[in-house]
Amino acid sequence: MKVYFDEDCDLALVRSKRVAVLGYGNQGRPQALNLRDSGVEQLVVAGRSGERPQAEGFEVVTPSEAAAWADLAVMLIPDEAQAQVYKQELEPHLRPGSALAFAHGLNIHFKLIEPRPDLDVFLVAPKGPGTALRQLYTQDTGMIALIAVAQDSTGSAEALALSYAAALGSGRAGILPTSFAEEAEADLFNEEAVLWGAIPELIYAGFETLTEAGFSPEVAYFECVSEVKLIADLIYERGIAGMREAISNTAEFAALQGGARIVTADTRTEMRRILREVRSGQLAQKLIEDAAAGYPRLKESRAKAAAHPIEAVGERLRQLKQ
Ligand code: NAP
Ligand code: MG
Repeated sequence: MKVYFDEDCDLALVRSKRVAVLGYGNQGRPQALNLRDSGVEQLVVAGRSGERPQAEGFEVVTPSEAAAWADLAVMLIPDEAQAQVYKQELEPHLRPGSALAFAHGLNIHFKLIEPRPDLDVFLVAPKGPGTALRQLYTQDTGMIALIAVAQDSTGSAEALALSYAAALGSGRAGILPTSFAEEAEADLFNEEAVLWGAIPELIYAGFETLTEAGFSPEVAYFECVSEVKLIADLIYERGIAGMREAISNTAEFAALQGGARIVTADTRTEMRRILREVRSGQLAQKLIEDAAAGYPRLKESRAKAAAHPIEAVGERLRQLKQ
């Protein structure tokens, strides 16, 4: 796979553009700050509440004003709000040949947004949370990003995507080409079946098994929760085989006994089912429905997570460390 770095990107391109960042949340704020520090001078933020971006030195406009002014509008409001904002506030105002950028492929891939054909449409998806995107940038490194082009009406959509990614700092780490389809489907699959879906459930199940058997919640927490950071750091730094070298033979032997009994053939069958659902657009549809109803399912799962006994233990242990 071709990987692009700073030397493959023309930073002057995005610096010459009028850039509007829509949303000032997890991604919007760090992206706007990184763009400004990379010398993008014609830069505004558009969103609902403008207090924070204003306090941090940005001009704040409405999404329609941003669309009429910008050469490049970057969609960094929640995925489930993007289609309506695009239809009502951006599409009527975006100038012909301007560019629309996304940080996640969902809305384009599942056709919730079908952009005007004269627009350039590209994806720059940093592979991690916004806090880390900003932190890495300030440490003179960067976060790996995926890029893709869905529409290239001007002939320079890819060059602008690379330039934008470089302005986020990703050219220091690596910029990898993908497609909207691949990014959207792989990202949603991982969110549902691996990272945010499965790992917390595994942690709950382990914690509950130990505490139900009479182990102290503190010991159960250290074993099943705190050590997640150790394994994540080791895998990140050395890969899975390398991680095994850094743990004791005892831990390694235990892993070989237990791993395949927890993640079984049934688990893999279920993963393939989840992937089919993701690819059919079912997950995206359910998200949109939940948002339209005022997020009943998201609210319920947040309340359930907050009430789990594991949180009180975690709170006590975090206080001990201070
Ligand atoms: P977020 O933090 O939830 O976005 C919040 C921002 O969007 C706030 O500024 C909010 O304004 C504004 N907003 C919300 N609803 C709006 C509406 N209807 N009209 C106008 N502005 C609205 O979103 P996010 O997590 O950064 O995600 C943004 C995009 O980045 C998504 O496509 C996501 O998939 C992608 N992405 C996110 C991450 C991540 O780290 N979270 C990583 C990679 C990619 P108020 O403050 O006024 O509510
Ligand atoms: Mg993701």
